[in-house]
Amino acid sequence: MNYCIAVDIGGTKIALGLFDQTGRLHGQVRTFPVPFDDYGVADPQGLLQLMRPLLEEVRHNNLPLCGLGLSICGNIDPNTGEAVLVPNLHWRNLPFGQMANEAFGLSTFAATDVRQALLAEHMWGAARGLDYFAWCTIGTGYGGYLFLDGKPYDGYHKFAGPFGHATFDEINGYPCGCGRRGCVETYVAGPAIARAGQAAVEAGCSPMMADLAAGEPLTTHVVFQAYRAGDAEATRIIDQAVRLICISLSSVNNLLDLQMIVLGGGVVKGLPELVDLIDDKIRAYLLSEEAKRDLRIVQESFSNASLFGSAAHAFIQCGLPIIS
Ligand SMILES: [Zn+2]
Repeated sequence: MNYCIAVDIGGTKIALGLFDQTGRLHGQVRTFPVPFDDYGVADPQGLLQLMRPLLEEVRHNNLPLCGLGLSICGNIDPNTGEAVLVPNLHWRNLPFGQMANEAFGLSTFAATDVRQALLAEHMWGAARGLDYFAWCTIGTGYGGYLFLDGKPYDGYHKFAGPFGHATFDEINGYPCGCGRRGCVETYVAGPAIARAGQAAVEAGCSPMMADLAAGEPLTTHVVFQAYRAGDAEATRIIDQAVRLICISLSSVNNLLDLQMIVLGGGVVKGLPELVDLIDDKIRAYLLSEEAKRDLRIVQESFSNASLFGSAAHAFIQCGLPIIS
């Protein structure tokens, strides 16, 4: 049995753990805040220092370690480990994979967090054995990654998959984190749901959400609570998000003819009912009878799929079999 260290670097925190080839986590997942400098740039050396103690423990225990698997919240070239563009960390063309390799003398394999999550679902999760599926995250952002013809689909520039930045309305839409306006993400992700709730409260349409918020800025959690209690405005907000997610995901499916779409992210964790709502409503937008019959919409299998996927990615790159 071989081991690897998996690391997931998000916009605010870094998580790391030790995995074996069966996808089993040994010990606890360790999490730390991402260190930033005064200009809001994530400090690569600081991040490497946070990984070092686990690596030293593993080496001290003489476990056979094949490498380091990295998941990063931005565009990462899975072949070189270069962080091409990571807006949340303010990284552009940073060879972080190579830096980790040199710091630890350990083979390092980096990829985009959504690609790693996709891989985890394929190796150890809901999409085991499938050749055509999409991973979709609904959280602070909205988007995903594609698995086509039996492998992750990276595209020519390794930028394939961010369907959340398809434009819905660039004239009347809200500004998006990608620098453009009116992307589908700005209508369906967590901040959009909270914004719609806030607007309902300010318009005096939902005394229930106003009570739950108790004067604080409205959160998705409040919208979900009110939705579960049958509040009409919260129901309208969730129905609207579901409708737009179904339009977006059905477009992905109509283009690619998938077997499954796996839903994850903070919004899905907070309101797992979304999975059944989307599963039900998406049929109306699907083109073929075959898709209406066969497409499965399921919830993610892991609490941190990117971390598990980083481990899978490292084993695969090392030529070691994944035991599922
Ligand atoms: Zn966008």
